[in-house]
Amino acid sequence: MTAHRVGIMGGTFDPVHLGHLIAAREVARIHDLDEVLFSPVYQPWHKQMRGLAPAADRVAMLELALADDPAFSVTTVDVDRGGDTYTIDTLNDLDALFAGKHLGEGVDWFFITGADAIAAFDSWKSTDELLSRARFIGVSRPGHDLRLPEVQGAERIELLDVDSADISSTEVRELASRGDSLAGLVPSAVEQYIVEHGLYRSPQS
Ligand code: ATP
Ligand code: MG
Repeated sequence: MTAHRVGIMGGTFDPVHLGHLIAAREVARIHDLDEVLFSPVYQPWHKQMRGLAPAADRVAMLELALADDPAFSVTTVDVDRGGDTYTIDTLNDLDALFAGKHLGEGVDWFFITGADAIAAFDSWKSTDELLSRARFIGVSRPGHDLRLPEVQGAERIELLDVDSADISSTEVRELASRGDSLAGLVPSAVEQYIVEHGLYRSPQS
């Protein structure tokens, strides 16, 4: 019996943009993933200086962005747990969820992380355990060097050069705060949601 191959992409997704979708799609194609779960954080410890858009809005925008791809979906394990988000908790929660859903079937986990995120992997909690329980794929991101973090077991991380897009949520928020077009940066349904809900209207940090 073959194991279910599941990608996980964690992030603030404030908001989700086409760079996230392209990176996930590339890894899914190259690693023949059955599905990819996008897990928005509740409140990341390193972003506490800036107020995030409410989790409900970030989840709603992800749902709109992923609606056209049956292999992509949102998981709210991190939002539901609350507090700071640590990837080891994400993995534990998803493991428990999938043990119930896919009885007797193993799951191979693939964490999809952009170059900036994988470079900071040494600051994550339980890196050794994470590397033994899941595969980590660091994908290229314009403006960031793709390199292994300085952590024990780093050779188990795979670096993958993909054709990613030069887009960040920071840029999207800045444009939205000026009322500028977000065309080509986020799916049109996400742009519509941002406008309708007046998100990111105040100047962004
Ligand atoms: P912000 O500007 O607010 O930090 P962001 O664009 O970096 O937002 P995040 O939600 O912080 O988006 O990122 C979630 C994950 O997606 C991280 O692993 C990040 O490296 C990756 N990622 C984000 N944008 C890209 C991109 N354009 N190409 C490849 N990976 C990306
Ligand atoms: Mg980021």
